[in-house]
Amino acid sequence: MKREEKKIEIKGFTLSELQNYFHQIGEPKYRALQVFNWIYNHLSTDFFEMENIPKSLRQKLSETCSLQTLNLVTTQSSLSTGTKKYLYSTLDNKKIESVLIPEGERNTLCISTQVGCPLDCKFCATGLMGFKRNLSVGEIADQYLLTAKEIRKEKITNIVYMGMGEPLLNFENTKRSVEIFTNELTVGLSRTRITISTAGIPKKIKELADSGLRVKLAFSLHSAFEDVRSKIMPINKKYSLLENLEALKYYSKQIKTRITFEYTMLKRMNDRDEDVTALTKLCNSLPSKINLIPFNSIKHMNPAGISAELEPTSNQDIQRFADKLRKNNITIMIRETQGDDIAAACGQLAGKIKKTLT
Ligand code: SAH
Repeated sequence: MKREEKKIEIKGFTLSELQNYFHQIGEPKYRALQVFNWIYNHLSTDFFEMENIPKSLRQKLSETCSLQTLNLVTTQSSLSTGTKKYLYSTLDNKKIESVLIPEGERNTLCISTQVGCPLDCKFCATGLMGFKRNLSVGEIADQYLLTAKEIRKEKITNIVYMGMGEPLLNFENTKRSVEIFTNELTVGLSRTRITISTAGIPKKIKELADSGLRVKLAFSLHSAFEDVRSKIMPINKKYSLLENLEALKYYSKQIKTRITFEYTMLKRMNDRDEDVTALTKLCNSLPSKINLIPFNSIKHMNPAGISAELEPTSNQDIQRFADKLRKNNITIMIRETQGDDIAAACGQLAGKIKKTLT
């Protein structure tokens, strides 16, 4: 294990970093491109598979570099929706999860950026498990690579950064993983098929706007009122909604994109008539749309405090709430719950396989 830790994690290297590395070890540049191709296009996890690389170099690479960042522990499929949860173990034995959501022609992969999460949102299972560490670029990329390898014939068409963790608090690695996913030589996903979801770090939202990545942005709103938002999302005390809205306006202007507001429906907390009014006003202040999310139970985490008191808005009331917003000309979608029977739905990821199913 110790020797393994010393190996260089070259998954997650950009092409130019890999070229630099090959230069350092006295190998020609084109070899870097060949290895790059093996990793990202052939989805190779073993240097010895790399047929066009000389045996001696394969041997050298396997001794000094590692292509393995995650081990698949288990998968679990939803009986009702086809959603599949992948539980991975990192090399230091931390558990993370990705979720594959097939919807018609689309295969959306929801990926994690941190082990746990430091934000402590009261409705989210990941928040309840606390924060362990950031994921490396290789670990973020590998969630895609290993899943793509498994489903081979069907392609992953969309990536959403909505798994465990806050992507903008692992900014550099998140950014570099997007570079890998959008690179034409590698995965080649269009930037419009990638969505980063954030609870709101204004400075980083602006930095992302200036980064040139031009991905879609989703903002976890959950209340248009500062006090309610602070109650269920403690991060709002540090970075207010007002400050975030200013950053989101900047993002939408720079990227010429609509912001998606994610809004988990909580009974009596954010589903009242005054919420419709405040939400309408907020949505009219920038190009946006709303994604209403049914609250997925976090009972498997044995929550305490406010978390234990939260209740879902009924489906009927979600429809009513949506209708009122539509009447106000707000673009709105109701997200279908995917995979709550396997704790793979939004906000249920906590590195646990639900015991009731095998
Ligand atoms: N930290 C990022 C990404 C992870 S959360 C963020 O906050 O956006 C991904 C989405 O799931 C967010 O919109 C989040 O608010 C939502 N979510 C979290 N817990 C949920 C739950 N129990 N039910 C429904 N949606 C939830």
